[in-house]
Amino acid sequence: MRLSIISTLKKISVLPRISVLNSLAVMGGTFDPIHIGHLRSALEMRELLGCEQLRFIPCLQSPHRATPTVSGALRLRMIELAIVDESDFAVDARELDRSGPSYTIDTLSELRAELGAHCTLYLIIGMDAFAELDTWRRWRELLDFAHIVVMQRPQSEVPRHGAVARLLQEHQRDVSELKKTAHGGIAVVTLTPLPISATAIRTLISGKRSPRYLLPDAVWAFIREQHLYV
Ligand code: ATP
Repeated sequence: MRLSIISTLKKISVLPRISVLNSLAVMGGTFDPIHIGHLRSALEMRELLGCEQLRFIPCLQSPHRATPTVSGALRLRMIELAIVDESDFAVDARELDRSGPSYTIDTLSELRAELGAHCTLYLIIGMDAFAELDTWRRWRELLDFAHIVVMQRPQSEVPRHGAVARLLQEHQRDVSELKKTAHGGIAVVTLTPLPISATAIRTLISGKRSPRYLLPDAVWAFIREQHLYV
């Protein structure tokens, strides 16, 4: 209960009136837990896109993956702790407030309705996820609501064949071009590679080894306090 009150207060204090935003980037995921790989990419991405805000959107239940091991309220709290000093970052709990699988198309259509037609909206995803985009619900409609910015990841290749490759060929543009419109383009960008994963962090903790320096100290302190991933 206390957690949800804190989350609500934080949401109110962190999220500016969304109607005033001209550009927003969103990064979805399980964030089980959030780590330096997510945070550094988010920071580099916000600078590259020059967007006013970058919002982390933790999912309740990914349609493509196993259910997260830790509750949505705790994963949300870890994101809040991780971004407390970064005023251009925010966390958005809408997928935790919906029931059932967290479909990106639902999130983007809600955001578009709130932001209005002219706000430039970027959906950030890793190349591994992008390569399987055609398995996502109403995947061809994603570009009706947002641009897609794909983070090149080590060991994942740009798709060269099939429906996703064709979508990329038709819609690929430079990042600087995306800024000129509200939605509809795809850019592939390379950021500083940090091969850190939440899976590796959970494995370290369950094996009684320290994940320190792979995630913010405040998040690690919270994990210990709550006895998570042991
Ligand atoms: P898990 O190990 O549980 O699969 P994860 O560390 O990959 O988790 P997610 O919450 O699934 O984290 O990722 C959310 C988003 O962040 C995805 O778009 C993913 O591609 C991206 N991401 C994850 N790890 C990194 C990293 N080290 N560097 C850059 N992006 C990352």
